[in-house]
Amino acid sequence: MKVYSNDDVRSDALQDQRIAIIGYGSQGRAHAQNLRDSGFDVVTGVRKGGKGWTNARADKIETAEPTEAVKGADLIAILTPDMAQEAVWKETIAPHAKEGSALLFAHGFSIHYGRVQPRADMDVVLVAPKGPGDLVRREFIRGRGVPALFAVKQDATETARARAMAYAKGIGGAAGGLIETTFAEETETDLFGEQAVLCGGAKELVKAGYQTLVDAGYQPEVAYFECMHELKLIVDLFYEGGISKMHDFISETAKYGAVASGPRIITEETRERMREVLRDIQSGNFARDWILENQAGKPRYTAMLNADRNHPIEKTGAALRERMAWLKSPTNA
Ligand code: NDP
Ligand code: MG
Ligand code: MG
Repeated sequence: MKVYSNDDVRSDALQDQRIAIIGYGSQGRAHAQNLRDSGFDVVTGVRKGGKGWTNARADKIETAEPTEAVKGADLIAILTPDMAQEAVWKETIAPHAKEGSALLFAHGFSIHYGRVQPRADMDVVLVAPKGPGDLVRREFIRGRGVPALFAVKQDATETARARAMAYAKGIGGAAGGLIETTFAEETETDLFGEQAVLCGGAKELVKAGYQTLVDAGYQPEVAYFECMHELKLIVDLFYEGGISKMHDFISETAKYGAVASGPRIITEETRERMREVLRDIQSGNFARDWILENQAGKPRYTAMLNADRNHPIEKTGAALRERMAWLKSPTNA
């Protein structure tokens, strides 16, 4: 496996090409500004009066109605939410994109699950930064970058790979380290990571730990500190130096407890559940459920989200965080 750096990537493939960024949210805002500051010709396709439109104007990024932005573009990055991409493709891109233009995604969902079926004359590529948009922008401004994955699904022009790599470099992805993947691998691992570990697994672990302590009669505030608040310190150590760095920084007692009791929590049964979640992603069951849920107006999704929002740990945490002044701005940690 090769990790590409800035020196490995040429920008020629996108020289004198016009890049249309459709959607100006988390990723769109970062990509558009980084590409512009890398010297590329960028226009963002945004709905007039929307938040993206206002932000793009404030950032001095050229704006146009989505259809107009698509018409003149050599590369079209579709950076709207995944569930909006099928309609954006059918109504805005497919009828208006130039012959031989490239269609770029930041996540493979729409292509991998067949929601978007691109025209045969177009390149279809993926550039997926491994971080949220605000970090993609912040790191770029510091002269660094967030690592990114790239992939080619369809190469109609024989420049698909070069264009994807040039785009990735333009947003800072090669400074952070650029890795080639496939749409299938990016989509399935991204979904699995967020479901089993990062978002789904982590929040359930926190809630279960908190509930166990509170049910046993301990004070909710103390349970909050132990099961949620301090998680950041541990995750920061993972981030900086892996499991070994965590072991280097915690007490001997914590370390013994970690190695002795951790495997009693994540058991073979949990790992079987992880494989189940992965199978649902691979088979398309998860994608189908999520699409149907959207079509039904998201009743189950809304109910489950509300259950999380109304969990007792949220009330306990909000009151405690009020007193921690350094938490008020999310980027000053
Ligand atoms: P956001 O929800 O932040 O972006 C929303 C933007 O899309 C807004 O500008 C919105 O317009 C616009 N939009 C929504 N619906 C439409 C529509 N029907 N027509 C035109 N514009 C529309 O998206 P993200 O940046 O989170 O996600 C974009 C892609 O990037 C997804 O594929 C996602 O999986 C991927 N990704 C996201 C990451 C992240 O950290 N968020 C990380 C890596 C990949 P308006 O302002 O007018 O409402
Ligand atoms: Mg992800
Ligand atoms: Mg994701």
